Amino acid sequence: MQYVSTRGGAPALDFEAVTLAGLASDGGLYVPAEWPRFSEGEIAALAGLPYAQLAARVMQPFVGDSLSPERLLALCEAAYGRFAHAAVTPLKQFDEQHWLLELFHGPTLAFKDVALQLLGLLFAEFLSRREQRLTIVGATSGDTGSAAIDAVAGLDRVDIFMLHPNGRVSDVQRRQMTTVQAPNVFNIAIEGSFDDAQAMVKRMFGDRGMTDRFQISAVNSINWARLMAQVVYYFAAALQLGAPQRKVAFSVPTGNFGDVFAGYVAAKMGLPVERLIVATNVNDILHRALSDGDYAQGTVTPTAAPSMDIQVSSNFERLLFDAGGRDGLALAEQMRGFEQTRAMRLTNAQREGASALFSSARADADDMSAAMLWASQSCDEIIDPHTAIGLHAARQAGIEASIPVVTLATAHPAKFRDAVERATGTRPSLPARIGDLFQREERFVELPGDYDTVAAYIAQNATPRG
Ligand SMILES: *Cc1c(COP(=O)(O)O)cnc(C)c1O
Repeated sequence: MQYVSTRGGAPALDFEAVTLAGLASDGGLYVPAEWPRFSEGEIAALAGLPYAQLAARVMQPFVGDSLSPERLLALCEAAYGRFAHAAVTPLKQFDEQHWLLELFHGPTLAFKDVALQLLGLLFAEFLSRREQRLTIVGATSGDTGSAAIDAVAGLDRVDIFMLHPNGRVSDVQRRQMTTVQAPNVFNIAIEGSFDDAQAMVKRMFGDRGMTDRFQISAVNSINWARLMAQVVYYFAAALQLGAPQRKVAFSVPTGNFGDVFAGYVAAKMGLPVERLIVATNVNDILHRALSDGDYAQGTVTPTAAPSMDIQVSSNFERLLFDAGGRDGLALAEQMRGFEQTRAMRLTNAQREGASALFSSARADADDMSAAMLWASQSCDEIIDPHTAIGLHAARQAGIEASIPVVTLATAHPAKFRDAVERATGTRPSLPARIGDLFQREERFVELPGDYDTVAAYIAQNATPRG
């Protein structure tokens, strides 16, 4: 399988190279040159497989010759063996129509473990094959950071530098990053918002002074391998609810548009997806873009769902590329315009391509609390604020009653205990696997929101490519 850049100006790469590269050299994002497609019979044959086996089967067409089927399966078994639930991503029922897909049983309690546990193993595999080193630079609004750090802590050939917006992640989120005492882990608290931190990471990829000395890669959701791993649980849930004979809709608490784009990929592969509901909080650039074609950056408002406090959604570019007819050079032009004015209109083709599968909804603080309360009082389920936004959007989407609607539970409620307690009166306890988090020692540096300072810190602490 070959991968092409959404901006049409970078060489096509295979899966191994794309995994290590992250962002394309022309500033675009890699997508498969074409979508692999499963027939109805092939999808039906996936029903009932254990998660790791399902994962290997769904991902094999994307991996191509970069890993043998046996090796891919072994990596999936290692990655998903670390989950605290035997089903890996168990499906629970709310009511006749609504379901909850629990994606938070990994080591750091957020759905990002599903992709990152595998990505860490892919890095180790490909780097030792090539005898190379990698410097991971990432920006996190909370959950990516801890999941990425957990996935690569202690790896020989990898250093990780994780930027988070100072004071804007929860205590649990911060501690999950800063208490990992591995020599290859560096946490940086940056003055500013997540978008400021993300902009610095993007800039570093284009900084020859850095890229000449270090092989810099990303682990945020611009990395294709992450999206690929997330496609699997859409299959897992839909198969349990009757696919391929029955259609299923999904509601996805959305920030960077990675998770919901994985649902789009599943649909492209032949999974019968009725609708993908993009659920946002008040930081609603995606809701505005999908409802009236107006993609304009606002200012970030901090909410109780910080992993969705994002105004520029990197992965949206992948949808604009695919739905808009895959014209990389035209998209490069459109994105240049956006980078200058922080606003753009979607083309008609992009709007029509998106509206065939996507709808969107925005939840404010009251909607979010009401959804947490409903889940608690009517279904005896404690859900986190991100998941609550998804549930709110699911319940008001107007999907025909015969079609199941699955809300993706993206974080464990214990990660956001204060917000959950305010809404439901119940304070979720930390699961045993991270129970001593508040006794562990923290380690991180605080830096101003200034690119040169951050680059200098990284240059000082990273191991050159060799
Ligand atoms: C990262 C995250 C999201 C947003 O996912 P995207 O792939 O960025 O859209 C939603 N909820 C939680 C808990 C997250 O950690």
